[in-house]
Amino acid sequence: MAIEHGLPEAFSPDSYDAIIVGAGYAGAVCARRLAESCGFKVCVLERRDHIAGNAYDCYDEAGVLIHQYGPHIYHTTNERVHQFLSRFTEWTPYQHKVLADIHGTLMPVPFNHTSLKLAFGDEKGEALYQKLVMTFGENKKVPIMELRNQNDPELTEVADYVYENVFLYYTMKQWGKTPDQIDPSITGRVPVFVGDDDRYFPAAPYQGMPAVSYTDLFEHMLDHDLISVFLGVDARDLITVGESEACVCGKPYGGEIVYTGPLDELFGYDLGALPYRTLDMVFETLDVDRFQPVGTVNYTVSEDFTRITEFKNMTGQVLPGKTTIMREYSKAYEPDSGQTPYYVINEPQNIELYKRYRERVAGMLSFHVVGRLAEYRYYDMDGVVASALELTDEIIAQH
Ligand code: FAD
Ligand code: UDP
Repeated sequence: MAIEHGLPEAFSPDSYDAIIVGAGYAGAVCARRLAESCGFKVCVLERRDHIAGNAYDCYDEAGVLIHQYGPHIYHTTNERVHQFLSRFTEWTPYQHKVLADIHGTLMPVPFNHTSLKLAFGDEKGEALYQKLVMTFGENKKVPIMELRNQNDPELTEVADYVYENVFLYYTMKQWGKTPDQIDPSITGRVPVFVGDDDRYFPAAPYQGMPAVSYTDLFEHMLDHDLISVFLGVDARDLITVGESEACVCGKPYGGEIVYTGPLDELFGYDLGALPYRTLDMVFETLDVDRFQPVGTVNYTVSEDFTRITEFKNMTGQVLPGKTTIMREYSKAYEPDSGQTPYYVINEPQNIELYKRYRERVAGMLSFHVVGRLAEYRYYDMDGVVASALELTDEIIAQH
């Protein structure tokens, strides 16, 4: 692999069989597969000064391994995704646990048997738990919006408590809307758990942290003789998409283009901007071994930030006397402001607008869109990898 900053003077798009925009999961998976399965010479353009997209991690000044763009916990049920990524890293076992700070008491989230007893006291908590077991069965996940629909006073009491104390204020901070106003699939990511398991991703058989780092995983994935990565290059300066073809450096391009950035941005927002939420991430290094008992504590009834992550608790790094934490403040994203569009907003009118952009590239068989931004989907890392594997299956089948 060659990683260079900026484009060389002699850069010639025609010397590449594929141009990939973005060096996150979507771009890196496509680059690797097109290089090794099609023998393509691949050019990856990345406008940041590093690879790995939002999964990028690095050591801060205190020597703590931090996740620059928010806490990333690898978890998947997808065997193929796991096999593919495991070619480029070993894994350190890690099971993510989250506590919610509810008026000073730390309770497991997803809200579970333990949380019920902490919230209602041992006796009443146990009685309510038995009611949940009778209604839904043991070790079952119940989305909060489903729990709220039950017609039973005891279940309503649980639902009201969880809605008010776990979901309402956190969701207001994160999305600027109440849980009733957003797509139920979003709060459904963190269902009430009728059981004792206190892991955030109980269903994922594959879960952990890359043994060295996410960035190291990407270095290995992109390490191929046929892949060249150019950092600090905004593809919009090179690529223009017309009605029926894409041009690179002003000339129609004959190879494959894989685009993993925001689709509205590519078209200069000419149909309107797609809404996103962005985050201000505030890092702080403290002169203590440990700040909090788990990787992430959610502030569900207080504070302006949504959650605090302590990286050493996730990576397992041993570094006495220092720890780095990070607070996340969510707000509306402003296009072309230098902010990062972190979260798509899954609402029907936004999906409609996205589809109109998508239609404009649908007829261009060599122009592909993939990834959390380009597909305008609330994907976890494994979802993006799965999508990139599927896309490259199709491209490989045609060559
Ligand atoms: P990105 O990682 O965004 O990569 C796209 C790349 O394209 C970027 O580097 C961008 O700079 C580049 N690019 C865009 N436009 C251009 C252009 N015009 N020219 C050049 N380059 C361009 N997933 C999990 O599985 N577990 C987690 O715990 C988890 N936590 C998360 C926490 C936060 C705060 C966020 C925001 C996301 C989290 N995710 C998590 C999701 C995960 O980050 C994404 O699924 C994944 O990183 C998306 O990969 P991608 O390649 O689609 O996009
Ligand atoms: N959520 C909440 N309280 C919590 C955890 C999650 O209200 O303690 C809601 C909130 O709307 C959030 C969504 O559930 O945006 C999904 O949470 P998740 O932790 O999956 O979000 P992510 O890690 O992607 O930011």
